[in-house]
Amino acid sequence: MFKINDNYLKLPGSYLFSTIAKKVNAFQAENPDKTVIRLGIGDVTQPLAPVIIDALHSAVDEMGKAETFHGYAPDLGYEFLRTAIAKNDYADRGCEIAADEIFVSDGAKCDSGNIQEIFSVDNKIAVCDPVYPVYVDTNVMAGRTGTYDPKTEMWSDVIYMPCTAETNFAPELPKETPDLIYLCFPNNPTGATITKAQLQEWVDYANKVGAVIIYDAAYEAYISEADVPHTIYECEGARTCAIELKSFSKNAGFTGTRLGYTVIPKDLKCGDVMLHSLWARRHGTKYNGAPYIQQRAGEAVYTPEGKEQLAKQVAYYMNNAKVIKEGLQEAGYTVSGGVNAPYIWLKTPSGMTSWEFFDYLLANANVVGTPGSGFGPSGEGYFRLTAFGTYENTLAALDRIKRM
Ligand SMILES: *Cc1c(COP(=O)(O)O)cnc(C)c1O
Repeated sequence: MFKINDNYLKLPGSYLFSTIAKKVNAFQAENPDKTVIRLGIGDVTQPLAPVIIDALHSAVDEMGKAETFHGYAPDLGYEFLRTAIAKNDYADRGCEIAADEIFVSDGAKCDSGNIQEIFSVDNKIAVCDPVYPVYVDTNVMAGRTGTYDPKTEMWSDVIYMPCTAETNFAPELPKETPDLIYLCFPNNPTGATITKAQLQEWVDYANKVGAVIIYDAAYEAYISEADVPHTIYECEGARTCAIELKSFSKNAGFTGTRLGYTVIPKDLKCGDVMLHSLWARRHGTKYNGAPYIQQRAGEAVYTPEGKEQLAKQVAYYMNNAKVIKEGLQEAGYTVSGGVNAPYIWLKTPSGMTSWEFFDYLLANANVVGTPGSGFGPSGEGYFRLTAFGTYENTLAALDRIKRM
């Protein structure tokens, strides 16, 4: 008789976005005349930039002719894309990352979930609280965590690093030594970030204790302040302790197009085994590459026109972020984020819980956001609004919130 991977049974239901959808649907059914504005889910709304559409069209045409047809992509991704990434995202920032240390994929969610496979099941993970749930859940599925305590909303055998207002929503070095440290800056959900000097402390710590940092830089394009690192490889010593995950979803609107990459420097070793070799082995065995069409679209991101058009797209969302942040401040809310990230993290007023504020905002402003408690216990009493809506909807939402 077969047995299932019963680690899956340990997972509590993923109630966050389904509960939100249920509540919104019920509200809409009772109030058919009200227009609900959604600033909840972290998905983009602007169409793909013209330069991307052109690249997609011409790649599709190539696929229709025998001479330019492309079948399976090379394991690590096409050379043209990996070279563009190595130059633009690393060499131009003074970071030493070679094209063959870059693995092209169909997105950072899969990579952030799959990367744990190359590590022993005995490794202990450290995560920020609140956190992007993928990091924890994929380690649960792999059997790297103990049991879930519904009261504390925490797993045994996981090191939680609370990110609170006291530390500007940055984690502090953990007391217990982890093997794998997940960091995401600029952060989803808090919109917070850390300076290069702070990140350097993490790199030094990881090298000292022999831990690997899995650095999710999905929101790098939203960085506006000078002392915020664009990549962990700006820090000295990161080549021996850090894996970096990048995505084309937030900088170029590829949430439905799918493209990302992972960097594993060849200096990152356990004894004499390169993690690069393990990930290459995994990629070759379990993955047949991101589509040629998407990789050509990704290449267009790095052209001068691509950079210009995408900077405008990011600026559009960051203007929304400003509207939200300043609007909330005028209305007397305590807010953070929204400067180097498209997320605004607000403290719920009058001691409301995150879910109480969700209901209050839906009923009184007909605006949907995400309860902070859905990202971890330290998110309780906080609420996330995203800047990924349209400008018109963002303005209307803030107008309603101010009149609440
Ligand atoms: C959106 C997001 C990603 C990107 O995921 P894709 O699979 O590339 O779309 C990765 N990490 C975080 C924290 C995100 O919010």
